[in-house]
Amino acid sequence: MSEKQNLLRRIPNMQDCLRSLASVEALQAIPVQRLKRCTREFLEQKRQLILNDKDPGPLSLEQGALRDQLVAHVLRGHRPRFRPVINASGVIIHTNLGRSLLPESAMDALLAAGSRYSNLEFNLDSGKRGSRYSLVEELICEITGAEAALVVNNNAAAVLIVLETLARGKEAIVSRGQLVEIGGSFRIPDVMARSGARLVEVGATNRTHLRDYQQAVTQETGVLLKVHCSNYRIIGFTSEVSNQELVALGREQGIPVVEDLGSGSLIDLSRFGLEKEPTVQEVVASGVDVVTFSGDKLLGGPQAGIIVGRHSIVEQIKNNPLNRALRIDKFTLAGLESILRLYLDESEAIARIPTLQMIAAPVEQVEERARRCLKMLNQRCGGSCRFDLVEVSSRVGGGAMPEQDLASWAIAVTPLSLSPSRLENNLRRQPVPVIGRLEDNRLLFDLRTVREQELELLLEAVAAVCESSTRT
Ligand SMILES: *Cc1c(COP(=O)(O)O)cnc(C)c1O
Repeated sequence: MSEKQNLLRRIPNMQDCLRSLASVEALQAIPVQRLKRCTREFLEQKRQLILNDKDPGPLSLEQGALRDQLVAHVLRGHRPRFRPVINASGVIIHTNLGRSLLPESAMDALLAAGSRYSNLEFNLDSGKRGSRYSLVEELICEITGAEAALVVNNNAAAVLIVLETLARGKEAIVSRGQLVEIGGSFRIPDVMARSGARLVEVGATNRTHLRDYQQAVTQETGVLLKVHCSNYRIIGFTSEVSNQELVALGREQGIPVVEDLGSGSLIDLSRFGLEKEPTVQEVVASGVDVVTFSGDKLLGGPQAGIIVGRHSIVEQIKNNPLNRALRIDKFTLAGLESILRLYLDESEAIARIPTLQMIAAPVEQVEERARRCLKMLNQRCGGSCRFDLVEVSSRVGGGAMPEQDLASWAIAVTPLSLSPSRLENNLRRQPVPVIGRLEDNRLLFDLRTVREQELELLLEAVAAVCESSTRT
């Protein structure tokens, strides 16, 4: 018999494995079907190692090591796939990591919405069917100064339904400098095509003038569309048409002006050292007929697309059958209302909404947190990594202010017996994964986006990786 066959025959069978697992406390709650699937996978991996002439490790259940491996494999396999992570990347609105965190008041509202019946579509005054949108419309109008409002699934949906309502079968005029792609899956020209509107590009990439719009207007024009170039900047010899000019043209021609603000802040963030961007209130006040923005970017709320604007147009959008397909659920509504209530007092919003807290945090506060973290890491893992305190730049993210940095502090980790990319990889595989960023052959933990209550978890994850790396 060949050596390979000999090894293959030593792999235990399913029954023996299950018998061996039966007494493991940590696996008691795992359904048998799951145990079997994970075990089958584990045994197959062993088989493949042998067939590929790799070391299969221990093969006998009598040795504790095989059982430990199997238990670890089952536990990993049974972990929920959707899990919390620690964002040490320094990107505050990180689309891949869930964008905005909700404050406690919003979480309470979500809990109630999920565990209790509600007046989601029930008018408590009339006792008749109500509308879910009406529950936040007044609040949105109060904060933004708009005449009417509607909330849909996300801002991409907001742009789609606005264009479908106003420009299906017609033309939508957009500046060439504003044909943005957000994260690959949202491109203005593609969304436009799906809405049935025909894109009419005007101007040049760097400069668009009022006369470009004027010349493009025809009987077929449905909207004049402005789009925030969220994730890029055109710099140098540039110009775009002001809202005032575009609104005047729209009024003159009887064509609605729509602005997709992307992130859309309700608070002027220039006080935190960021460049001045028009707030939603300012854009509404400029006379633009419809404004759309995200719920989970700078607003700091749940995923949603908020549409505000003139009453007559918002009514048309509400009556669009697409609205039903794009509607928000009760969790979004609950989270959004509690976030918006905080905006009634600007200082409350800044103090309580995590996205704004992280933008507003003074660099000294981040430094202090970084120093504490450094000390904890040195005490626990000083033997296996070098930790240095370094000044870095954080980013707002979410396609907001792409060129602007927020001063921050990070811990640079240089592992002694691993490559930094291996460390980064192993940290992603922890029960609570830590997402840092690799820079100059070091792994950085930017403390601006690590919450106070996560420091202990970060330490746990780093310690687990360090301990396993010194063992092997
Ligand atoms: C982010 C963004 C969108 C898409 O918003 P979602 O809420 O992610 O759907 C659309 N337009 C612009 C300009 C954006 O920045």
